[in-house]
Amino acid sequence: MMSTTDFTNDKDFSNLRVDLHSHTNCSDGALTPQELIERAVNFQIDVLAITDHDTVSGLVSAKQTILEKNIPLTLIDGIEISTQWQGFEIHIVGLNIAPEHQALTTLILQQQQRREDRATAMGVKLAKCGFDDVYTDAKAMAGEGSITRAHFARVLLQRGVVSKMQAAFDKYIGKGQRAYVNPNWCSIEDAVAAIHAAGGVAVMAHPIRYDLSTKWLRRLIVDFKAAQGDGLEVVLPQMNKEQRKLMLSFCLEYNLHASMGSDFHQPSRWSDLGRNLVMPEQANAIWQLWQGQATPKN
Ligand code: AMP
Ligand code: MN
Ligand code: MN
Ligand code: MN
Repeated sequence: MMSTTDFTNDKDFSNLRVDLHSHTNCSDGALTPQELIERAVNFQIDVLAITDHDTVSGLVSAKQTILEKNIPLTLIDGIEISTQWQGFEIHIVGLNIAPEHQALTTLILQQQQRREDRATAMGVKLAKCGFDDVYTDAKAMAGEGSITRAHFARVLLQRGVVSKMQAAFDKYIGKGQRAYVNPNWCSIEDAVAAIHAAGGVAVMAHPIRYDLSTKWLRRLIVDFKAAQGDGLEVVLPQMNKEQRKLMLSFCLEYNLHASMGSDFHQPSRWSDLGRNLVMPEQANAIWQLWQGQATPKN
């Protein structure tokens, strides 16, 4: 059993329950960092990365909860950075980062401004669709946290404009829809560089969710590799065998490490923390890249 105060992350995770992608209400997750930690304990997770959208603000209170309650959980400091590539929004997860690092902090501030600008513009477009003050409500819902399209989708759901969150994306705020606003995210290179500067490793989040053909996915992975990316998420909850095989083959072909995570946002029937996450035997696990290494100071 690992010690509760062990944040050096140098344990071998191979036989542990590991989830390297999760959200709190510091971005578009439903649970507070404290509640997420408690849920992780209930689900017998040994290693959890909190990876909120363009923010690290949940990490301190998560760590505090672990220390105060003497919880046997290794927390990996993480983030999920939105980037743009060829007109697509590609998410890059940073793991084992030093959250206060200057280069990362600078990028986070820029991304927060971009989120704010996009949210305001989405509010204007939604008003033209006949829905007033959606930005105001979404902003209130996001509070101090990162504002995301998920907040807009929840507002539209609460108002009864749509019957499911997905429909808000399909009808209004998804790519190409009436209230979609082109984002101004950083490049993949910028995200990877900031993550590396902060001593972390850079993982392409959910490669199967970008709606790319295999040919385009390969192009994306080639560019990610050229940008010094370290790994791909090869194990996600809703992935079929063929997709897993393809991701694993990309990892092996491009010498990328493999990561796995639930992308937990809220308790649901379809997925939960740590569920169905098993690292394939052939893969080089992403944690090999930081185990035994000290996290750099600012
Ligand atoms: P944003 O980062 O502001 O673009 O918000 C995107 C977030 O909305 C994602 O992280 C998901 O949590 C959520 N989401 C839910 N359904 C969709 C969808 N169909 N397309 C994109 N994002 C979605
Ligand atoms: Mn999200
Ligand atoms: Mn994502
Ligand atoms: Mn995510």
